[in-house]
Amino acid sequence: MIDPGHNPGNVDHTTEINAQVDVGNGHKECDTTGTETDAGYSEAAYTLDVSNRLRDLLQTLGAKVVLTQDGDRPWGPCVTERAAIGNAAHADAAISIHGDGGPATGSGFHVIMPAEVKGGAADTGPIVAPSHRLGLLLREKFQAATAEPYADYVAQQGLDTRSDLGGLNLSTVPKVFIECGNMRNAGDAGRMTDPQWRQKAAQGIADAFTAYLTTASG
Ligand SMILES: [Zn+2]
Repeated sequence: MIDPGHNPGNVDHTTEINAQVDVGNGHKECDTTGTETDAGYSEAAYTLDVSNRLRDLLQTLGAKVVLTQDGDRPWGPCVTERAAIGNAAHADAAISIHGDGGPATGSGFHVIMPAEVKGGAADTGPIVAPSHRLGLLLREKFQAATAEPYADYVAQQGLDTRSDLGGLNLSTVPKVFIECGNMRNAGDAGRMTDPQWRQKAAQGIADAFTAYLTTASG
């Protein structure tokens, strides 16, 4: 399951995406608009492009791929539905693809894994360990494919664990987020705007899925 973060239409549907949804341990906005580069290349356009490249790579390898949205709906879906789509598909692995909006001086990528969250519809206990394995493989393969360094302004050694993301809290299948770079940083923005770099990003994620799905969990 591939979740392209945000939606290019969210900016025109602020009322809908600002509606509060239950993420298990609290309430958050249904969805957000995401960030953009200084030149105006939106995170939503970035995530959709990388997701389509990733889908093509995985389908060529024989995987069955489900997207949460493919530019085919005016806004959203809400983070709750993004999780539900992966759950309903009984996905072997799931990823939500993002670009960060950090301080302009910060650069690099990081992977976000689910914390232990139990409450309401959230119970990440069963997915914490497999998601961690997926996250470690993603950090390794994404860096190998893109040469992007670990983020120097957030996370630790390219890894973070969070309990505030509905897309992770409500997942019943192994799932991680990736912030592929900081779109507010000139260097990262230049790379993320380059289609050739986006292909490398997709390849790195595909390599991580392949490794995850074809190696023993130990
Ligand atoms: Zn995002």
